[in-house]
Amino acid sequence: MITPGTAYTTEGPDALGQFGRFGGAYMPETLMPALHELRGVLAGAMADPAFRGRYRQLLTDFVGRPSPLFLAKNLTRELGGAQIFLKREDLNHTGAHKINNCVGQILLAERMGKRRIIAETGAGQHGVATATVCALFRMECVVYMGAADIARQAPNVARMRLLGAEVRAVHTGTATLKDAMNEALRDWITRVDDTYYLLGTGAGPHPYPQMVRDFQRIIGEETREQLLARCGRLPDALVACIGGGSNSIGLFHPFLAEPAVRCYGVEAGGLGLASGKHAACLSGGRPGVLHGNLTYLLQDDDGQIDDAHSVSAGLDYPGVGPEHAQLFESNRVQYRVATDDEALAAFHWLTRGEGILPALKSAHALAFARRLVPTMTPEQIVVVGLSGRGDKDMATVLHHQGETV
Ligand SMILES: *Cc1c(COP(=O)(O)O)cnc(C)c1O
Repeated sequence: MITPGTAYTTEGPDALGQFGRFGGAYMPETLMPALHELRGVLAGAMADPAFRGRYRQLLTDFVGRPSPLFLAKNLTRELGGAQIFLKREDLNHTGAHKINNCVGQILLAERMGKRRIIAETGAGQHGVATATVCALFRMECVVYMGAADIARQAPNVARMRLLGAEVRAVHTGTATLKDAMNEALRDWITRVDDTYYLLGTGAGPHPYPQMVRDFQRIIGEETREQLLARCGRLPDALVACIGGGSNSIGLFHPFLAEPAVRCYGVEAGGLGLASGKHAACLSGGRPGVLHGNLTYLLQDDDGQIDDAHSVSAGLDYPGVGPEHAQLFESNRVQYRVATDDEALAAFHWLTRGEGILPALKSAHALAFARRLVPTMTPEQIVVVGLSGRGDKDMATVLHHQGETV
């Protein structure tokens, strides 16, 4: 439903799954009935208080929500600008925000009577979260993962296997997240009757972008309540990193109707936009269709998908969720980049400064906050989405310092 007279509405997508001109469901005919069924079941579930109650209960008992909103006093004092609050998604069970979405989707799979779950994963965080909820619900779990990512993320591969998941290596393309997603979609086409595809970010065909957003909105809803209780007001700015765009849309969405709250999405700038080696789809890409939706993509002049680069595995996806494409063009959210070097520096800054090891992905958001905060005043408030913890990135960080674990 579009509210007349406003440039941006928080009520998207429309009936076709479009956020403005972005989104949609560009999928093979064989998957259309499954997507149609999923939309129907999702709408019923979201309107069912019993379903919402079970989702909330699991977030409380199993995930450990609400996650704290932490005032980073040391960093705030050091920069001398706005107060910095961290929304601690790193403290969730399995160490990142991904589990919020997995809890919601496994409940949907159960409601649909599907007992075989498939997923794609990049750095392995979504694979671990999926394997975790599959163990909890005693469902079969197959995770597709690029062979290059398997080599880079051994601890998460071990976690998935211990949790009972089958990790299938994908060797096509660059053997990373995009290729894993291709393979998961291929699997779904062949086994659509008994299989639920548990997608990990706000991308893919309708209804996935909307569904993942609505299961991640809890991040922003809690932030709003926690800040109102503590400071009696809304934040001046929100900052979150952008992979496919799920932790950021979850944080931003409950604030989008408040024009005074500025939102910043931080893309992975890799070696810098000018180098061509980055993963900044909005700042350095063009609209096109990938994995079932129209959005901004990294592509060459012929429309071939370009390889994405980032120091952080899983931020190297060449696309971004379609709602972000709309937020970008409508200017409601500002998109910035942080380079590999800036993210690594921000990793150390938070680790030494507050005793919190962030995920390298989250460190991209911190890197931008570090630039933004000094331009603001001490009465102002910035909330940074700390999407995950950094244990699994330690080998990468040490490698960049010329050390080994
Ligand atoms: C997966 C992941 C991201 C990126 O994915 P989004 O869908 O953009 O949130 C960011 N941070 C962490 C810790 C992740 O695991």
